[in-house]
Amino acid sequence: MIIVLKSGASDGEIADVERRITAMGYRPHTIRGQLRTVIGAIGDDRGKERLRSLESLETVESVTPILQPFKLASREVRSANSIVRVGGVVIGGSKVVVMAGPCSVESREQVLEVAARVKAAGATVLRGGAFKPRTSPYAFQGLEEEGLKLLAEARRETGLPIITEVMEPDKIDVVAEHADILQIGARNVQNFSLLRKVGAAGKPVLLKRGMSTSIQEWLLSAEYVLSGGNPNVILCERGIRTFETTTRFTLDLNAVPVLKKLTHLPVVVDPSHGTGHWEYVESMAMAAVAAGADGLLIEVHPRPEEALSDGPQSLKPDRFAAVMARIARVARAVDRDV
Ligand code: PEP
Ligand code: MN
Repeated sequence: MIIVLKSGASDGEIADVERRITAMGYRPHTIRGQLRTVIGAIGDDRGKERLRSLESLETVESVTPILQPFKLASREVRSANSIVRVGGVVIGGSKVVVMAGPCSVESREQVLEVAARVKAAGATVLRGGAFKPRTSPYAFQGLEEEGLKLLAEARRETGLPIITEVMEPDKIDVVAEHADILQIGARNVQNFSLLRKVGAAGKPVLLKRGMSTSIQEWLLSAEYVLSGGNPNVILCERGIRTFETTTRFTLDLNAVPVLKKLTHLPVVVDPSHGTGHWEYVESMAMAAVAAGADGLLIEVHPRPEEALSDGPQSLKPDRFAAVMARIARVARAVDRDV
């Protein structure tokens, strides 16, 4: 339920309504807007009629049900866009944030070289996988903790915050120790124990869409993280499975305007996994920005032909720089900046 307070409600009055919500067995989630304070009452749907009695309070304007099954993620609860801050980087604001780097961290030289190159081209977050979710158990599985340390070194050298994937609940602490943003990969989007635990990790979370996950299921996954107490969730469209086989996945750019309508969370697009081929990354990156994405996640490798994972979809640094220049022009055309 959404409890809208009358404008000018004092801190004491807000605290009083929060106390009453808690006493009814719900968790208050308070959003202080410029004009009004809105409190989402989160909990078991069955007893929600009791919350309606709050309408009799002097300070309460209205009590209405949240119609969507996802609650904290819904625009019904928060109409303004959410902003996720990572160091000096603002995700969900007027600038399109480009996160770039290799699929996997492979060596010190590789990650430091690519970090310097993507920074020079205008990326503001460095990506790189240390724990890799590979389809085959015989494929390169990542440098694990050593990879995390190399990413941290690249951050010291460049100042770029880092995003890297966490695959298992018992690795969250070590990944969170090094990373600025925790990535939940497509294959783990419905790993509910992992989602609950990253909700409590205190670091922003980038939640990729699963390859067979509907937008509603994806937002319910985001709800696990949000309801675990972590408001800093970024959604990342990375392509879904369809009958089409000329591309690795089908990048669902419909998701961008649909999500912008349904949720206040920032939306990022990954044209690298979405297409699986470096030649298509530029077009889909530009299309994503034109569609209203708040950011891009792009794989860049100094020598894609030698990459230990996802070489065919990785851009060389020079091409990445050229793509950045074109993305910036598209961003300006839609009243954004890079
Ligand atoms: C990745 O970002 O390298 C990755 C494995 O992505 P996804 O989970 O989208 O496949
Ligand atoms: Mn990859």
